[in-house]
Amino acid sequence: MNRKYDAIVIGAGQAGPSLAARFAGAGKSVAIIERHLFGGTCVNTGCTPTKTLIASARIAYDARRAHDYGIELPTASVAVDMRAVQARKKRIVDASKTGLENWIHGLQNCTVYNGHARFESARSVSVDGQVLTAEQIFINVGGRPRIPTFPGIGGVAFLTSTSLLELEELPRHLLIIGGSYVGLEFAQMFRRFGSDVTVIEKESRLLSHEDPEVAVEIKAALEAEGIQIRLEAECIELSHDAESVTANVHCSVGSPQVTGSHVLIAVGRTPNTGDLGLEKAGVDTDQAGFIKVDDELRTNVSGIWALGDCNGKGAFTHTAYNDYEIVAANLFGGNPRRRLSDRIPCYALFVDPPLGRVGLTEYAALAQGHAIRIGSRPMTRVARAAEKGETRGLMKVVIDARSNLILGASILGVGADEAIHSIIDVMAARVPYTTLQNTVHIHPTVSELIPTVLGELGPTTSK
Ligand SMILES: Cc1cc2nc3c(=O)[nH]c(=O)nc-3n(C[C@H](O)[C@H](O)[C@H](O)COP(=O)(O)OP(=O)(O)OC[C@H]3O[C@@H](n4cnc5c(N)ncnc54)[C@H](O)[C@@H]3O)c2cc1C
Repeated sequence: MNRKYDAIVIGAGQAGPSLAARFAGAGKSVAIIERHLFGGTCVNTGCTPTKTLIASARIAYDARRAHDYGIELPTASVAVDMRAVQARKKRIVDASKTGLENWIHGLQNCTVYNGHARFESARSVSVDGQVLTAEQIFINVGGRPRIPTFPGIGGVAFLTSTSLLELEELPRHLLIIGGSYVGLEFAQMFRRFGSDVTVIEKESRLLSHEDPEVAVEIKAALEAEGIQIRLEAECIELSHDAESVTANVHCSVGSPQVTGSHVLIAVGRTPNTGDLGLEKAGVDTDQAGFIKVDDELRTNVSGIWALGDCNGKGAFTHTAYNDYEIVAANLFGGNPRRRLSDRIPCYALFVDPPLGRVGLTEYAALAQGHAIRIGSRPMTRVARAAEKGETRGLMKVVIDARSNLILGASILGVGADEAIHSIIDVMAARVPYTTLQNTVHIHPTVSELIPTVLGELGPTTSK
């Protein structure tokens, strides 16, 4: 059976549902196709479950150090009930997923299909034995954990960021292959739940996209909680016996083997574009499978757009949602037109202390040829951090010495995931750093130190 719509949206992740609702609200007929769970990665296996579990882990951590704050608890008996922790997570995830699902099903002019969508041509998509056609098709298929080809991996029951979220038993010793954003959040979370944790990273430092002093400080924070970190792990190789899994890591320092009870593979993500029939529509991808798009998220085929993680232009919920905003604004009469290149990259790493990031790091700014000035301050000199007893970290702002515009910032410290937004906003307003320097912030907050840091810039440097 053939059904014709004004628009088809493939994937109900972080861009698709809002776009479908926008079409429906404009009186257009729209089909949205989802093959698995409404809300996609973020709601079901990404942001929501991880941040919910991190909140539980933080309570365990706080309970153990209550004494430092003058509160006496029987810390020896602080116990983590993983079933209860998982049940709490499930409640929060389910509420979010169900809310979205009910909303989508309730939209007038919107038809929901549950099934795997595949292009049949540039204007048609098959799902569940039916063929749907539309003049406009939007791809929002997201990604999944990338599985590397390490020797031995085929014989080992490894975990991914998805399957680890379902564990109801606590790993005795969790090995984590990959010392980047996803791996580090899990490392601290499981350490706080009570597992031994070893992070295995092939680079010479964690978080190779961040400035070295930020990565060093995060490593120190994790090690202080008892997490083992193995860097320069060349030629990773996995094997197992009945009770354990071993990683041969060939690190320059330390034992060449690490043995644990479970292993998590956290080495990046791959787009869900291989089983979409893109070749039938003539849509181009790059070598890694990301769909190529222009500055307004259009693919090379007229009438087809790609939004969210599958276009490789962002790897976050806020970037996927911003893709929706760009496409919707341009399709529904936005003036001026919105573009991808106007987006300022920003994100957070939700370890403790969190890292809030925007724009360029110092090293990226120098590599791009900017003459820069740096303002920085350790968190030990931030009153609110001292009051909270959480003085690990630093804040660092990178200024373009010629224009006085802020190029980027890293805030690593308590409250950093919120404090970074004052810098994001000033960058978006495209005003000189002096505007922020002269703004009064509330005392005592972490944010109040940002104007102070901007008043203490170092000399101009360039490459
Ligand atoms: C462990 C983890 C933690 C994360 N934490 C954060 C965080 O704290 N903050 C943040 O901003 N981001 C975080 N992310 C990233 C965030 O989850 C993603 O960037 C975001 O979900 C991308 O949204 P999307 O709409 O592009 O794709 P997705 O959310 O992945 O949605 C794509 C949807 O398309 C469906 N689909 C795929 N192929 C087809 C098909 N052929 N037919 C029909 N349907 C299909 C999928 O089932 C899925 O529902 C995290 C990710 C992970 C893995």
